[in-house]
Amino acid sequence: MTPRAGSGAGFGVATLPPWVPAPAPHAVKLVCPYVEGMLWPQTRAIGERFNAQFANVGGSDTAYHALLTRLWAMGEGFALLEHDLSPSDALLSELLACEQPWCSGAYLYRAEGRTILIWGQGIVKFSTRLVRAESNAMAFAPCHWEVLDLVLADVLTERGYVVHQHLPAVRHLRLDMAVTVIKDGVRYETPGRGEPPLVFQSRSEVSLLGRVLARLRRSRTRSPRPPIPMMCSSI
Ligand SMILES: [Zn+2]
Repeated sequence: MTPRAGSGAGFGVATLPPWVPAPAPHAVKLVCPYVEGMLWPQTRAIGERFNAQFANVGGSDTAYHALLTRLWAMGEGFALLEHDLSPSDALLSELLACEQPWCSGAYLYRAEGRTILIWGQGIVKFSTRLVRAESNAMAFAPCHWEVLDLVLADVLTERGYVVHQHLPAVRHLRLDMAVTVIKDGVRYETPGRGEPPLVFQSRSEVSLLGRVLARLRRSRTRSPRPPIPMMCSSI
């Protein structure tokens, strides 16, 4: 993808600063996919601090797929931060520099009237080693943005990869609620609205909700792939 990829499948950077390569010590570049009018100021500020490339994926339902395909084809690792997430600088720095091949941050998601915690594509990193070793991982048919993370995760999971999880949870500004994650006896607290905070600590509880989410999203977008649990498990 060129720095000013304003043509093609509906994404570009016409209204935002041009791409500036991420400086050391960040191991991979940061890309912020956004839809016009839905980029939160906090997310924009974080992206600018980390010299992110902003890419408008609002042009069509498959523009996000086209962006990922282009990034993957460049053969260099990259991270994504979607337009309404607000990680701390510390967590984002940690994720960008992590040596694991596939990393994600947890964040809240609302499905079927329930608020759940997912490990999705909202904040995710794919290392250079992974992108080069699995150079055909994006060789699936263009799909709706809402199942893109599930489809790609299916591919990587089938090839033996396990997402490396970073805590504490990232603020999802649209749902901004206080969250506590308890993992291996450690409490990870994220500020937000609401007291007491939402607490996540049961592997089985989160896995079940993850399957619900996967089925819901696939049925909404008529994805041909069968639902499998993945992004929302194993806290
Ligand atoms: Zn990691």
